[in-house]
Amino acid sequence: MSIHLASVTRSFGTHKALNNVSLSIEDGMFFVVVGPSGCGKSTLLRAIAGLEPIDRGDITLDGLPVAGDGLHVPPEQRQVGVVFQSYALWPHMNVAANVAFPLETAGVKRSAVAARVAECLETVELTEFRQRKPAELSGGQRQRVALARCLAQGAGTVLMDEPLANLDPHLRSAMEEELAAFHAASGATTLFITHDQREAMALADKVAVMWDGKILQVADPDTLYRRPMSRRVASFIGRSTLVPVTVLREEAGAAEIRLGGITLEVACPRDTTPGPATLLLRPEHLVLATGSQGFAATVRKTIYRGGYWDVLVTLEGLQEPLLMILNRRAAPGDTLRLTILRGWVLPEESRGGCQPGPPLR
Ligand code: ADP
Ligand code: MG
Repeated sequence: MSIHLASVTRSFGTHKALNNVSLSIEDGMFFVVVGPSGCGKSTLLRAIAGLEPIDRGDITLDGLPVAGDGLHVPPEQRQVGVVFQSYALWPHMNVAANVAFPLETAGVKRSAVAARVAECLETVELTEFRQRKPAELSGGQRQRVALARCLAQGAGTVLMDEPLANLDPHLRSAMEEELAAFHAASGATTLFITHDQREAMALADKVAVMWDGKILQVADPDTLYRRPMSRRVASFIGRSTLVPVTVLREEAGAAEIRLGGITLEVACPRDTTPGPATLLLRPEHLVLATGSQGFAATVRKTIYRGGYWDVLVTLEGLQEPLLMILNRRAAPGDTLRLTILRGWVLPEESRGGCQPGPPLR
């Protein structure tokens, strides 16, 4: 099922929880919406599921209008399954009965229910747990029951609102793998919501970054990481240093820039104009130079991270410290010789509508 939102707005009082949101989610995609708490993620999911009315705009599912001008198709007629943070399983029913429940209440024939339940439990690899009660399952297994129930309803689309937020860290990464496998096996269009950018990067075919009721950028995880189109996206996705630079010239998505006392070439949006700009450096973009190459940097601070160090360094002529990763110990005051492998000049936000340049090498 494909999902389209056009200029959807939903206000609570004067606050716009959804502010003119437009999104297109293709059939079969694993689509992640990521953003800080309170930015409107759950409202977005609820609007698609039909649990929340919208004030303006249109929502279509597989091309069929479900919300818009005077229209509100109820949740049970939208063919989408929802998995919330709390699994909402019936504690007195076993796994199979939990999965069967929505089918039975919808009046599906008994034999058909049994077949469908078996099929869905197989998909989430819970067949041998079919007789257990939720209390006899791990958090991850309960989550899989919730997924199976979602599938059983014939939902070609699954909406998940921070389904991993309640799990232990070690279970989370196991569940990330489960979810990826679940998606591959079911082929269901999946809209997954999280405040955790790491989770978003691990799972998504495409990520939408949401902020204060608006979608800031939609892209595949790698593009989002390498070519964020705003300061907000750059700082929300991954670890970053944003520093002021001067663009000397631009050609075909590559810019010659001045960073402190050094001149280097980095990627940039096409048609970046010469003048002051902001450079994004990821920690791995700064590396130790070989031989006598590179430029001098002074170590300001180091933090041991287990197997490696986060190191803040400063360059001559640049106030802002830069974050890098070192595999060996360094002490404040040490001088290192560094090379910058790559970087990305952010688009001038006021201008907007910049086209990303060619792929990075
Ligand atoms: P998120 O899921 O990203 O944390 P929500 O979609 O739950 O954010 O909420 C977005 C904003 O809308 C928040 O400021 C929240 O307080 C507000 N909000 C959400 N639901 C309601 C409601 N039923 N009544 C009033 N305000 C609400
Ligand atoms: Mg929420």
